[in-house]
Amino acid sequence: MIPFLDLGRINAPHQVRIRAAVERVLSSGWYVLGPEVKAFETAFARYVGVDHCIGVANGLEALTLVLKAWSFPAGSEVIVPSNAYIASVLAITQAGLTPVLVEPDQRTYTLDPTRLAAALTPSTKAILPVHLYGRVTAMEPLMAFATQHGLLVLEDAAQAHGATYLNRQAGAWGHAAGFSFYPTKNLGALGDAGAITTNDADLAAQLRMWRNYGSAQKYYNNVPGHNSRLDELQAAILAEKLPFLTEENERRRQIARRYVAELALPSLILPPADAIDQDVWHLFVVRHPDRDAFLEHLRQHGVGTDVHYPVSPHRQVAYAHQWPADAFPIADQLHREVVSLPLNPTLTAEEVSRVIEVVNGFR
Ligand SMILES: *Cc1c(COP(=O)(O)O)cnc(C)c1O
Repeated sequence: MIPFLDLGRINAPHQVRIRAAVERVLSSGWYVLGPEVKAFETAFARYVGVDHCIGVANGLEALTLVLKAWSFPAGSEVIVPSNAYIASVLAITQAGLTPVLVEPDQRTYTLDPTRLAAALTPSTKAILPVHLYGRVTAMEPLMAFATQHGLLVLEDAAQAHGATYLNRQAGAWGHAAGFSFYPTKNLGALGDAGAITTNDADLAAQLRMWRNYGSAQKYYNNVPGHNSRLDELQAAILAEKLPFLTEENERRRQIARRYVAELALPSLILPPADAIDQDVWHLFVVRHPDRDAFLEHLRQHGVGTDVHYPVSPHRQVAYAHQWPADAFPIADQLHREVVSLPLNPTLTAEEVSRVIEVVNGFR
């Protein structure tokens, strides 16, 4: 049996370092927003290649707080891909703004820059590209469009820690970016954690208030903020794991290269491989027109899978009636066909071979 993802195995190589970090925090007597958070923020900002990093409670909060701090008029529109994970859309609605869904590029599954112009209205204020599955959106045309129309850009980099596009990292392209360190992400905590990256010093100062009840000075509140603080334990653990992220992403790429070279089932659509060395392969997502039968075959042969994601955001019950059900056929087709195969840094060569053998043996 090859599990889709075994988080114990993912963290096993870091056990000694994690225990030391926990001991350090325990004996420090300081547990929320302290020196460990500050040290991780500095290290992560340097890693991404930006001036500021603000640790927050999770990835959804990272995105929501940036949109709130930008203070757009209520009802302003934010462009977001129609095949996004629900968090990207939730961030927009939780900030009191209106999501405008735009169909993705059918090859890369990220926002299609050629579709932006048709989505633009006088109320458009921002674009929220999602670097889905570990691939950075085509940011050069997107930033050019944003500049031309005076829009701000918030990257959803929750699946793209360390991914690059034109030699610049995810999180260093937009006016701000949101990261998640949920345990399954390429850089994962042992609980919930998130961060915002930006080169905008004023925005960074605002966000440090927004994450902590809107307060810069204790008991004085300048904005109606959230409790979205990062705790010392998660920050200390993340700081221990960060130095290994580059190596772990490289191991993911090695596995992706094997999958791309050796998966040979004619009915299978493989992920785009043109940026194989720039992507960080958070997920290796293939498509099959007869997904149910394909999933059943993998299950019967002991290969764990997952589906990211089975339902388009516009069809979620939470957003019922906001969009016509058939408004986003590309997103719907992707959500009907996608299957995530096991891919993580601890997968052995034998396990990769077995996944390939089972996939190629379908029908
Ligand atoms: C995980 C994820 C988020 C949300 O992160 P949380 O920490 O779970 O709130 C947002 N966007 C994408 C694309 C994600 O994968």
